[in-house]
Amino acid sequence: MIVILNPNTDKSGEAYKEALAYLEQLPGIQLRHHEVRGAEQVLTEIYLLGDTHKVDEEPIEALDAVDRVIRISEEYRILGRHADQHRASGFTYNGVHFSQDTFHVFAGLCAVDTPDHVEMMMKALKENGQVCTRMGAYKPRTSPYSFQGHGAACLPWVFELAGKYDMKVVAMEVTHENHIQEISDALEQTGNPTGVMLQIGTRNTQNFELLKAVGRQRRFPVLFKRGYGITLSESLNAAEYLASEGTSNVIFCLRGMHGTSGNPHRNMVDFGHVPVVKRLTRMPVCVDPSHSVGSRDKSADGILDVVHVAAQGVVGGANMVLVDFHPEPSKALVDGPQALLMEELPRFLADMAACHAFYQTRREIWGQAAS
Ligand code: PEP
Ligand code: MN
Repeated sequence: MIVILNPNTDKSGEAYKEALAYLEQLPGIQLRHHEVRGAEQVLTEIYLLGDTHKVDEEPIEALDAVDRVIRISEEYRILGRHADQHRASGFTYNGVHFSQDTFHVFAGLCAVDTPDHVEMMMKALKENGQVCTRMGAYKPRTSPYSFQGHGAACLPWVFELAGKYDMKVVAMEVTHENHIQEISDALEQTGNPTGVMLQIGTRNTQNFELLKAVGRQRRFPVLFKRGYGITLSESLNAAEYLASEGTSNVIFCLRGMHGTSGNPHRNMVDFGHVPVVKRLTRMPVCVDPSHSVGSRDKSADGILDVVHVAAQGVVGGANMVLVDFHPEPSKALVDGPQALLMEELPRFLADMAACHAFYQTRREIWGQAAS
């Protein structure tokens, strides 16, 4: 059961104290507080844990500080919607707002390689009005003999370049909990020139100890990739590990499913699940067309498959696109064959903006204009 307080409830006020006193005396029930910080308001939710079947909602709803009470299913307690379309979603990080209504492109390098390439990428992004990027420093690779990423060594210059070109958020995968500290240290050392969104890769979707560690930190939001060989429900439950430890600023990323069914794409594109994840949970949804498709194949219409599938996700309501670019794909150390080229960046962004506008039009056609 979740008790949602009125927006911006004053924690030192009488109404709040009265509500807390009532909830604290409920037998066998433990309380857990959770705050959703939006652009304009702070929503406080109090989770009632334990045997809530016997708890009567009416006296709780009658409390002055309480807006409403939601009975929740066992699944996705914090991140789920629980048939309440009004539950607040989204968060603001380093000045950038993310919700199920916003739209951002995170174009960048799959793997950080040279300062020149990182700088060319960031410069092009700034010239095209972008404030978000992706930069892989820790790379989980199929073969232990493949390049594993530059790791902590590259972080200071990557963050400095991000600051130089006004990048607000860098999506960066972490594969071990120590990487969180390494990222924090490098940000401190360089004077916090940018922000970082910690990425959980598809290979670590069910690495529960990593999820708990990332969930325990409060500083960074998380981009959580769907597991490529498990059910959607299993992936959503895994994302809930982050929230259960305290981090609910989570974006859920679809990146294609493993197996041969998707051939000739590297993975079976699963972007039909964009609206499903938005319906089941409050998380903004991202699509990663690069790791889904895995090539620069293009159709007779002249449009790359990577761009086509990205468009499909965005027309379906995706809130974010994570996409690989590279100034010199033949020299990329990871995933060069799927990278888009710098000269394709303006057209890619124009295409995505048009797709997002078309999604808004679709909402109007179906009677629910975007807020
Ligand atoms: C990535 O985005 O760099 C990546 C490795 O993706 P995934 O975990 O989806 O394979
Ligand atoms: Mn990659």
